[in-house]
Amino acid sequence: MAALNSIGTTGRVLLVDDSPIALEAIGSRLQESGLDVVMTTSPREALGLATDGSQPFDLLILDVMMPEMNGHELTRRLRANSRTSNTPILLLTSLDSTDDRVNGLVSGADDFFTKTAPDAEMLARVRSFISLGKMRAQLQAQHEAMARVMREPEAPTPPLARVEIIHHMPVVSERLARALRGSPVGGEFQLTQRSPEQRMLTSDADLLVVSYPIALEGDQPLLKRFGFDEEAPAVLVVDEVESTSRRVLAFDAGADDYLTLQTPMAELAARLGSALRRQRRQRQLRTSRDRAMLVAVTDPLTGLYNRAYFHEALGVEFRRAQRYKHPMSLVLLDLDHFKQVNDTLGHTAGDEALREVSKRLRQTARSTDVVARHGGEEFAMILPETDLEHGLIAAERFRAAVDGAVVRGARGGSRTLTISAGVGCFPVHSTSITELVELTDAALYNAKRMGRNRVCPVSLSQEAPAPASPVAATVPNMGTSGVLERLRRLVAEDLEGPLTATRTAARMLHQASQPGDTLHMLTSQLHQSSEEVRQELLRVMDDLSRAILESGRAGAAPRNEHK
Ligand code: GH3
Ligand code: MG
Ligand code: MG
Repeated sequence: MAALNSIGTTGRVLLVDDSPIALEAIGSRLQESGLDVVMTTSPREALGLATDGSQPFDLLILDVMMPEMNGHELTRRLRANSRTSNTPILLLTSLDSTDDRVNGLVSGADDFFTKTAPDAEMLARVRSFISLGKMRAQLQAQHEAMARVMREPEAPTPPLARVEIIHHMPVVSERLARALRGSPVGGEFQLTQRSPEQRMLTSDADLLVVSYPIALEGDQPLLKRFGFDEEAPAVLVVDEVESTSRRVLAFDAGADDYLTLQTPMAELAARLGSALRRQRRQRQLRTSRDRAMLVAVTDPLTGLYNRAYFHEALGVEFRRAQRYKHPMSLVLLDLDHFKQVNDTLGHTAGDEALREVSKRLRQTARSTDVVARHGGEEFAMILPETDLEHGLIAAERFRAAVDGAVVRGARGGSRTLTISAGVGCFPVHSTSITELVELTDAALYNAKRMGRNRVCPVSLSQEAPAPASPVAATVPNMGTSGVLERLRRLVAEDLEGPLTATRTAARMLHQASQPGDTLHMLTSQLHQSSEEVRQELLRVMDDLSRAILESGRAGAAPRNEHK
């Protein structure tokens, strides 16, 4: 079988066997299949090579019976070393003893095979463990890189592992469940058993134990979906009787193990348990990497995205907008006279104000918007799929959300907060990302110059920008009465429960005399609303903002400047 000689996976393997003949026989088969194999007859040397060597191994293959140190002991020592604690270990045994296998798995090995196993089976197994080793090494590297960036690389507590057994025969299912419960290595887990009637498209299990037909046959074989996906559960295939060809097919499709109904109970228990342990270790690495990544992109004071993430995201969204010819808006915001807050109320109150403003911005933004702290008291928002009109309306909503927030000093005194914003839009203002950022920054500066607590779009003319928004002219006037009507309808449709906030908002709206006040009240209502209500309120506010911009064009509603 020539195809099997070419393993299709390159990798670095360490092979240790006290018998030079066995070493040569197995080593040459692995080398012929294209692997980089380092061989030694000494377990001590192997330990050194694996733990001190400059280049890590993807897989360690250890003989069990060695006079100097047996494979189980070597496994334990390798597991105790941080460099090899996650490297897959395969044990080589000449005996076909269940005790030996169980001991191997208990000591921390991932699997074993007998030296007499057919080549095809050995290579399939080696191949699947090399992929596993690479995936783990990558997760580990990402985890460590992130941990260096973080201040405290605190290890996450692993959540309870979930196992699902899917088999058409309840007797088999029950036997597997018993094996799992009696496993010497599995640890705590939560078990579901089900029959294969409904096919799965996703699963939140960590480990799936399934019959051969479910895993590999039919038009939706489970392994086709879950076989090589890093995030997917591990799949253990249970066959009726041992078959080398089916075993090879299972491993080639990405199975994590192949068991049969003849597998002795003790071995079944050890194998299920070790698969579970393997999966748990993987998930732990993944969770800590994901958490580390989140920490690395988050501003610790406000919980918003940080500046580095903002620029990454801006690049991504900008390219997407270009590719699909969709608009995209950028809003840069800066707190007004913020230095005075620090000077009069102290730095702690200043920090508190930054947190409050961040909260309001986040609550007012849509879930697809990127909200970041761009600098000290400066914020940046990316609004994907948003044209200039809606970008301005959104910016006005952000401004209104902050307007009037009160910050109190620890020793008395308080100040009201306001924010100024610049709005830039792709493609109308610029088709270059750097230029768009510069223009938007200039628009923010204009908003400051024109008296603060206001929104200014990018001005492409050389003259000073006109106070009224150029957009207002293009907005159809639906007027506040139309908006009120819509809100009334919304309230009428919702008789109880989740939309109480909307109802309150409507009452407030009735009492409000000015659209500006209404917007303000709706904004304060946003803070207590559920996501569903919030999204609806945001739509209502968009319409109100439009009406406001419209009346602004007629020369009404100049903003108050806060001192
Ligand atoms: P303007 O309206 O022109 O923006 O005036 P400003 O006072 O807000 O602007 P300026 O750039 O002069 O001052 C910004 C101040 O923001 C300086 C600093 O006291 C404050 N600041 C920046 N980062 C932080 C922070 O992390 N915490 C606190 N408490 N204050 C900060
Ligand atoms: Mg400022
Ligand atoms: Mg500033």
